[in-house]
Amino acid sequence: MKNSPVLIRQLFDSESSTYTYLVADTDAAAALLIDPVSEKLTSYIQLLSDLGLQLKYAVDTHCHADHITALGELRDTTGCETLAGEPSEMACVSRFFGDDDILQLGSIALRAIYTPGHTDDSYCLFLDGEQPLIFTGDTLLIRGTGRTDFQNGSSEALYDSLFTKLLKLPDQTTVFPGHDYKGWTQSTILEERQSNPRLQVKNWQELDTLLEQLKLMDPKLMDIAIPANKQCGKTSLSDAGLSFLTDKPA
Ligand code: FE
Repeated sequence: MKNSPVLIRQLFDSESSTYTYLVADTDAAAALLIDPVSEKLTSYIQLLSDLGLQLKYAVDTHCHADHITALGELRDTTGCETLAGEPSEMACVSRFFGDDDILQLGSIALRAIYTPGHTDDSYCLFLDGEQPLIFTGDTLLIRGTGRTDFQNGSSEALYDSLFTKLLKLPDQTTVFPGHDYKGWTQSTILEERQSNPRLQVKNWQELDTLLEQLKLMDPKLMDIAIPANKQCGKTSLSDAGLSFLTDKPA
C-alpha cells in the first residue's frame, strides 16, 4: 500500500512561543510554511533543502503582533508566493485568500476557514481526510484562545468562530495551534471542547469576561511588529536580528 504523501513538521520559535508548520506533498516535492518567523529563516531554508522540497507558499494565518513574519524574506530567497487572508492589511502579499478557498499543494487541499475574533484577518487551515487536522493560528490554542483586545479583535466574533465553525469539525480532528506557552504540541477538537476553559461559556459575553480577567500585557514591540508585518516583515529591524520577546500575547 502506498504511503500518504503528506508530511507535517511542527517548528518552534522560543522567543515568541510561535509554532510554524511545514506542510509538504512529498510526491510532488512541494511545501508550504504556515506562520514562519523571520529569525528562523535560515533553519527553514536548511530544512527544505534537507528534505528536497521546493517552497511554493508562505502563509500567515493573520497579521502577527508578537513576532516579525518571514514571508517577505522567504519570497525573496525561494521565489515562493506569499499569502494572507482577506481583509488583511498585509498589502505586500502575492495573493489574498477568502473563506472556503482551497490552497492546493500538489495533492493536498488545505481549506481556509475565516475565523475572525483574535483579529479581523484570522483564518484557520483545515486538511480533511482519514485523519483530519487543522492549523488554528491564534483562534484556538490548547486550553486557551487568542486574545481579542487589539487589531480589530472581537470576543463576539471569536465566540462565533469557535462555536459555529471550529467545534463543528469532526471530534477527532487534530488541532495544531499557532502558539503554546506550556510545551503542549497538539490537541483534538473533542479534547478542547471538553477541557478548554474558554469553551465552557454559554455566550460571547462570558468569553469576553474571561478574556478581560486575564489582564494581558501588550506584546513587547507590538508597535513595531504590526507595521513591519504589513510589509511582510521587510524591515531594517528584522534584518538586524532583534528579538521580539513576548508576554503571552496570543
Ligand atoms: Fe496573534
